[in-house]
Amino acid sequence: MNTSVIGYPRIGKDRELKFASEKFFNGELDEAGLLNVAKTIRKEDLLKQKEAGITYISSNDFSFYDNVLDTAFLFNVIPQRYKDLGLSELETYFALARGYQGDKGNVKALDDDTKIALTGSKPLDEFIEAKELGVDTKVALVGPFTFLKLAKFTGSKKISDVYSVLTAEYIKLVSLLASSGAKVIEFDEPYLVRDLNSDDIDLFKEIYSLILSNKNGAKILLQTYFGDIRDAYNEVISLDFDLIGLDFVEGRKTLELVKTNGFPADKILVAGLVNGKNIWRNDYKKTLSVLNELGVANVVLGTSCSLLHVPYTLANETKLSEDYKKHFAFAEEKLTELNEIASLFGGDFENNEIFKKNQSLFEGRVDSEDKEVQAKVAAITDADYVRLPVFEEREKIQKGILNLPLFPTTTIGSFPQTADVRKNRQEFKKGLKSKEEYVEFNKQKIAECIKLQEEIGLDVLVHGEFERNDMVEYFGENLNGYVFTEKAWVQSYGTRNVKPPIIWGDVSRKAPITVFWSKFAKSCTDKPVKGMLTGPVTILNWSFPREDISIKESILQIALAIRDEVLDLEANGINIIQIDEAALREKLPLRKSDWYSEYLDFAIPAFRLVHSKVKPETQIHTHMCYSEFTDIIPAIDAMDADVITFEASRSDLQILDSLKENNFKTEVGPGVYDIHSPRVPSVEEIVNALTKMRAKIEDNKLWVNPDCGLKTRGNEETVKSLKNLVAAAKQIRG
Ligand code: GLN
Ligand code: ZN
Repeated sequence: MNTSVIGYPRIGKDRELKFASEKFFNGELDEAGLLNVAKTIRKEDLLKQKEAGITYISSNDFSFYDNVLDTAFLFNVIPQRYKDLGLSELETYFALARGYQGDKGNVKALDDDTKIALTGSKPLDEFIEAKELGVDTKVALVGPFTFLKLAKFTGSKKISDVYSVLTAEYIKLVSLLASSGAKVIEFDEPYLVRDLNSDDIDLFKEIYSLILSNKNGAKILLQTYFGDIRDAYNEVISLDFDLIGLDFVEGRKTLELVKTNGFPADKILVAGLVNGKNIWRNDYKKTLSVLNELGVANVVLGTSCSLLHVPYTLANETKLSEDYKKHFAFAEEKLTELNEIASLFGGDFENNEIFKKNQSLFEGRVDSEDKEVQAKVAAITDADYVRLPVFEEREKIQKGILNLPLFPTTTIGSFPQTADVRKNRQEFKKGLKSKEEYVEFNKQKIAECIKLQEEIGLDVLVHGEFERNDMVEYFGENLNGYVFTEKAWVQSYGTRNVKPPIIWGDVSRKAPITVFWSKFAKSCTDKPVKGMLTGPVTILNWSFPREDISIKESILQIALAIRDEVLDLEANGINIIQIDEAALREKLPLRKSDWYSEYLDFAIPAFRLVHSKVKPETQIHTHMCYSEFTDIIPAIDAMDADVITFEASRSDLQILDSLKENNFKTEVGPGVYDIHSPRVPSVEEIVNALTKMRAKIEDNKLWVNPDCGLKTRGNEETVKSLKNLVAAAKQIRG
């Protein structure tokens, strides 16, 4: 049985790409230097897969930023103003990615002046580069259907105006690749896993009938991932693709689709059964049984999506004991899994030692079960998801006792994490500083932070989050059931990497986590101090989740742990508590019709579970990072928080209309300025933003705050900005 990998991690096994890119941005490394680092990474990745014996290895899966942007660049979808900058090709690319002089970046926009044309050569260059290394690759391309559906049309043109030109340019590319020796060309079309209407399907068929009648001798692999293609399966198998890649991990219906509709005998099915998104060992028994059940003549074993979502290699983990490690497979270990499963398939695997060893992994894991937690989750009743009294009554009670002015001012939680703050934490972690010294330093910081906020004149104060490295890792470290890695970095977006902790077992709280700091902050002032927590959905979404229990069950366990913290804060006199759900939107399934049944129907109640037991007097805030929730506003309201703050300054405030239309009941603090830049907003500018907000939001529901935490900012601009924010609030009160 042959094997296929959609894509390999590309940040380098020690994050070389991130460091080199940052040096390039700072001018410490020249273009040639950066290109060289990238080339070395690609070489290592290719040879690793070749050594492992993978049959179909991708080239052009590498990217400095993201593959869709690469595709825009390849086909000259570059706004004229970026071309006019007079930058080098690579600099223009990064300008498109990261923004340039006032532009926000991440530009994949088609305007009326865009002349779609194959002007780039990345796929060909990387194919040849691989060939010279002795690796005969399939060339992975973002497909035209997905590209067009994701592109932003900023002028009057629509997809129907441009798709035939784009298709013709793709055909040129195919011909170029084929004549240079490419035997297989992979078209990635993840958009197929979304809800599609008949126009979408017609467009897909139209584009591919053209491409497939111009193969120039190459074989065409249609690769899909991140779900099943239930709306297009029959059309897809009736087109002249040579290979079709389907996701059997996230694609809940994939197996059923193949079994009920069949699969053509003249095509090859690439069965994505090795999970590209999670780090657990594959269960060979399950995988082999799916392969047997398929009843398809020609099958290749593949990954469910690109391996770029998992870390490089377990070999980097020197501190974790084998008891844990043996249950994990990062990218490199997944290559071994592909080979082992392929070699077991069709044989007498039940008696094979490799198979038996694999199966022994699923008999249980050390330190992963907590019967008490399981019982608590089992005992949750419907009433636990409901906070009483209802919002409107609580709102009155809270207004009565909190005594805040109209348009109360506050911040999102963190204050600048200056060098001294990070140093204190690092020295404590390395054992260079005693616990007492560490705590003393932070207390000093909190006291100063409170004093500063009083001087600035903010109404609801925060302690500043100086004890936190990261809003998820910090809580993970203080919960049972978590495992941490040393170097298991994955690309989050662009040059940003994250190191998600792993949910290993049943989760519970070891001891109060934040109470000490919040209580101390409160003792420094007579003003209200807001306690600061991360919510269960975000904690789960930014971790590698378990596969032996459902996501829902894991979220509920975390929710119960955070609920203990909420109640302890309340018992200690903290009567405003913010529970951040920065990442709530991130795990929405791509398929919109699955949003509620597969996600929101348990994610939103899990949030309610966290705060349902607090007193009516206690005000619950939540915070979300992106205002891109226009389409789930009723779900956000159903979180039943008392106040929500969110990012609005970078969006066009369009969300305000939706809030009004949906009769949003929760009080709101749409961020009045963008904390992602060091710019200080003027009083006038903030007043203007607030004036626009007042047109859509009732005065007695409007809060005034920046759009996210201040931890990446410096002290100077923070103080100036917040002073202006307070002045603006005072001005509109007057
Ligand atoms: N409370 C966190 C902070 O202020 C929220 C961070 C976030 O939303 N990403 O830093
Ligand atoms: Zn935020």
